[in-house]
Amino acid sequence: MNFSLTDEQKSVRKVVRAFVDREINPYIKEWDEKGHFEKNILKRLADLQLMGVCIPEEYGGVGMDYNTLAIVCEELERGDTAFRTAVSVHTGLNSMTLLQWGTEEQKQKYLVPQAKGEKVGAFGLTEPNAGSDVAAMETTAVKEGNYYILNGSKTWISLCDVADNFLIFAKTDTKAKHHGISCFIVERTLAGVSSKAIKGKLGIRAGNTGEVFLDHVRVPVENLLGYEGEGFKIAMSALDNGRFTVAAGAVGTIMASLEASVKYCAERKTFGKEIGKHQLVQQMIAKMSANLEISRLLVFKAGWLKNNGKRNTQETSLAKWISCDAALEAANDAVQIHGAYGFSNEFPVERYLRNAKAPVIYEGTREIHTIMQGEYALGYREDKPLRKMLPAWPFKEICIAEKH
Ligand SMILES: Cc1cc2nc3c(=O)[nH]c(=O)nc-3n(C[C@H](O)[C@H](O)[C@H](O)COP(=O)(O)OP(=O)(O)OC[C@H]3O[C@@H](n4cnc5c(N)ncnc54)[C@H](O)[C@@H]3O)c2cc1C
Repeated sequence: MNFSLTDEQKSVRKVVRAFVDREINPYIKEWDEKGHFEKNILKRLADLQLMGVCIPEEYGGVGMDYNTLAIVCEELERGDTAFRTAVSVHTGLNSMTLLQWGTEEQKQKYLVPQAKGEKVGAFGLTEPNAGSDVAAMETTAVKEGNYYILNGSKTWISLCDVADNFLIFAKTDTKAKHHGISCFIVERTLAGVSSKAIKGKLGIRAGNTGEVFLDHVRVPVENLLGYEGEGFKIAMSALDNGRFTVAAGAVGTIMASLEASVKYCAERKTFGKEIGKHQLVQQMIAKMSANLEISRLLVFKAGWLKNNGKRNTQETSLAKWISCDAALEAANDAVQIHGAYGFSNEFPVERYLRNAKAPVIYEGTREIHTIMQGEYALGYREDKPLRKMLPAWPFKEICIAEKH
């Protein structure tokens, strides 16, 4: 076991941290208040080559390992959940899914520009009547010659107004439940695609989330990802990567909550001493500090499994469940430590608390992950190899091995 970060990973952390402190933290309060999604941040992330950090160089990425993606997510969410969510969706849910399931043509056409950050990807699974219960989806895809005709709507889609390409899940067989779902690469420019942002969100107000409408959208057959009927498996494998980034981001929220709280503990005095000297305050700090370590270890273990080309649904679900709950608790305690001041946006901790709620809901609610972990422990569920696995890291060796 090796717990140390490589020099490259340390330098990525440094770069992202400096970027967040320079280009996000000074403006985020205003963006959050105005509900403004600063699209330029995606361009800046592309300039820093962070939109495809763990995508192989041959597909336009940087070719770093999966734990480097986790580090990027930690540091981005230390700034704000909105921009980590953007990377989760673009890289974790969309690009890594293309890497895993795409044909060579699909990778060249869609993955390469996304990994370079020239195009933005999003992920459309949830519908008004289908969240946790994915198989209840109502969007349909009917084959007509060389096209599938897509009809339906998706909701709560991150980057809905910003993305160039969506992975859209739709029923090609409405009677076959999970087995009737297929996955399509849908370009925003196709006729019949439209979107609308959701207003009035509790948190991630600096993010773009909303509905995507599909009205007789003609999608070429070559944009079917995987086989017909394989969409549910593809969606679940995409979530293995999305959840990994969400869990890593939660580590960032804990970091930010701890950082703000430690600072305030030294500034605020009650009963003649710094509040950090009160044991009940120390208890909250201790919990944050312990959960930071626990959550990060769970994330890096899931990343290690990915690097080694192993299934990791169980471990990723555990990391996502534990770290998102811990982040919500850390943000809540950070507000508590700030007393009444924590209740105002004079300090960032109220935003951390509002932001920390969504990750406990999206990419599998707390309840869904609890059930999954119970089922694994009871032997009701196990992870079997998929038809197509995410490539192990280092990528080069895999490519050479594949050629022999
Ligand atoms: C900010 C934000 C961004 C999002 N981005 C995306 C995105 O980019 N793409 C996308 O496809 N989706 C996205 N989502 C949607 C998200 O994934 C869903 O909200 C989530 O899957 C839960 O579905 P639901 O909201 O329909 O809740 P429901 O499934 O209706 O659940 C409601 C409640 O019932 C509980 N529940 C449901 N089933 C069970 C059960 N079997 N046992 C016990 N309890 C249960 C749930 O845990 C929850 O508490 C986003 C959501 C948010 C808030």
